[in-house]
Amino acid sequence: MTQTAQTPTPSPAAGDHGKGRPRKVPRVVILGGGTVGVYTARRLRKRLGKREAAIVVVDPRPYMTYAPFLPEAAAGSIEPRNVVAPHHRALKKIDVLLGKVSEIRHADRTVQITPEEGEPYWVTYDHLVIGLGSVARTLPIPGLAEQGIGFKNVEEAIAVRNHVLNRIDRASSTWDPELRRRMLSFVFVGGGFAGIEALGEVEDMARAAVKHYPSIESKELRFVLVEGSPRILPEVSEELGGYTLEQLRKRDIEIHLSTFLDSCVGGHVVLSNGVELDTETVVWTAGVKANPVLRSSDLPLDEMGRVICLPTLQVATQDGTVVPDAYAAGDCSAVPDLYNPGKLCPPNAQHALRQGNHLGDNLAKILRSAEPDEYKHKNIGAVASLGMYKGVAQMLGRIKVRGFLAWVLHRTYHVFAMPTLNRKVKIMAGWTATLLFRREVVALGTLHDPRAEFRAASVAPKLPPTEEADDEQPQLGGDAEGPAYGAQAPEED
Ligand SMILES: Cc1cc2nc3c(=O)[nH]c(=O)nc-3n(C[C@H](O)[C@H](O)[C@H](O)COP(=O)(O)OP(=O)(O)OC[C@H]3O[C@@H](n4cnc5c(N)ncnc54)[C@H](O)[C@@H]3O)c2cc1C
Repeated sequence: MTQTAQTPTPSPAAGDHGKGRPRKVPRVVILGGGTVGVYTARRLRKRLGKREAAIVVVDPRPYMTYAPFLPEAAAGSIEPRNVVAPHHRALKKIDVLLGKVSEIRHADRTVQITPEEGEPYWVTYDHLVIGLGSVARTLPIPGLAEQGIGFKNVEEAIAVRNHVLNRIDRASSTWDPELRRRMLSFVFVGGGFAGIEALGEVEDMARAAVKHYPSIESKELRFVLVEGSPRILPEVSEELGGYTLEQLRKRDIEIHLSTFLDSCVGGHVVLSNGVELDTETVVWTAGVKANPVLRSSDLPLDEMGRVICLPTLQVATQDGTVVPDAYAAGDCSAVPDLYNPGKLCPPNAQHALRQGNHLGDNLAKILRSAEPDEYKHKNIGAVASLGMYKGVAQMLGRIKVRGFLAWVLHRTYHVFAMPTLNRKVKIMAGWTATLLFRREVVALGTLHDPRAEFRAASVAPKLPPTEEADDEQPQLGGDAEGPAYGAQAPEED
């Protein structure tokens, strides 16, 4: 960090923005280093040198995740590390602060940052960009918090992959039919783009994996999709959504439309249409909502909690008055869609990426005292991958593509949208290797608890003798309360 003011209290006097001594170089703080954050920062840096603007990006992760590739990462077609762009590579000549923004006081031009370790601190700014994205939209369904997993970030996608492959591994060594059924049943909730792609890719991977297990037949795998509305993929035409449904059903995927998940306590799934099943896997992909941290801000939000914006991506009040020095884009913003009057830009990567670039250009103009331009983007279509060589696409609203060609379109479109040449090349090299040698279907389940074996092998330290328990010293080999061999499982794990 070179230029960031860090002050313990949020008083205007603590910072050096407009009200105090003006900074020599205006500071732009970008909240969120995801699609919007990275593209805005890169474009602004391209337009303005370090003497014209200091740029600071704040994110709890040291990388940007390109979410459209998460389903392929879960399926093993892309290396997990290649679906992320490390900030230190993607954000040259830009400062990065690792931490979560926990409060925004725009009136004071200051934000509170909570790092992973250490005390929260405040950072002042001259211009604020909000690119905080969205979080999974969940419902108070009994058992969901304990049993479910999201599919929003690379950690979750890889956990789903390892979990599914791990269930197959375990089921192959289990003869109890009930247990096998439970292990080999997988429930996905939500039939939008993310859910259908995740389901399509993971199911395809699971079927490829069971070919290596003589004790498991492919028909034992039960994949279930639960969708509350009467159709899937609302992003494409009904015809293409219907085609996708037909393809998934041909793959023996059980689809419940106009159906809700009522409960999943202890893995016992109950659907609103009366269907019940036991499972160890509930993947929740039923939509997103704006980042809830925005509620801890003095910025104008709409009824869905998104930052209200003008088409110029400047933050504005309900009546359209510009809030000076604040800008927002992507999933956390409500930006009017100028090609669809009365509607807002949908929360997708296509808009987030273009809005990021547009915002970088607009900020450069504003910092040079020019007028910002309105963001206008005509939807170029939607592409989805449904497994190896399978996909659906709808281009320019009319052209519908299916199967292998749609799958190629999906890969081509997204690899060009992935930031940094390094990642583009690595992803393409990985695809080529997979085509030649087939994908990896091995579960590295222990990655999620790498210390488990060491804990089990550890010997408990000798405790100092106490008055009551002089004779109850833990012995090598464990005592009545601890696990065998004296291992003391730390609570944090
Ligand atoms: C599985 C999946 C598949 C998808 N497929 C497609 C697709 O095929 N096509 C398409 O167009 N779109 C797709 N999307 C949607 C698309 O990825 C998002 O719309 C897009 O990434 C939104 O960009 P963003 O910058 O608004 O948010 P993000 O890219 O999510 O960035 C938000 C950033 O904010 C950071 N952050 C969160 N909280 C804080 C905090 N408190 N302080 C600081 N930083 C914080 C996060 O770490 C993250 O880096 C998919 C999404 C998912 C989950």
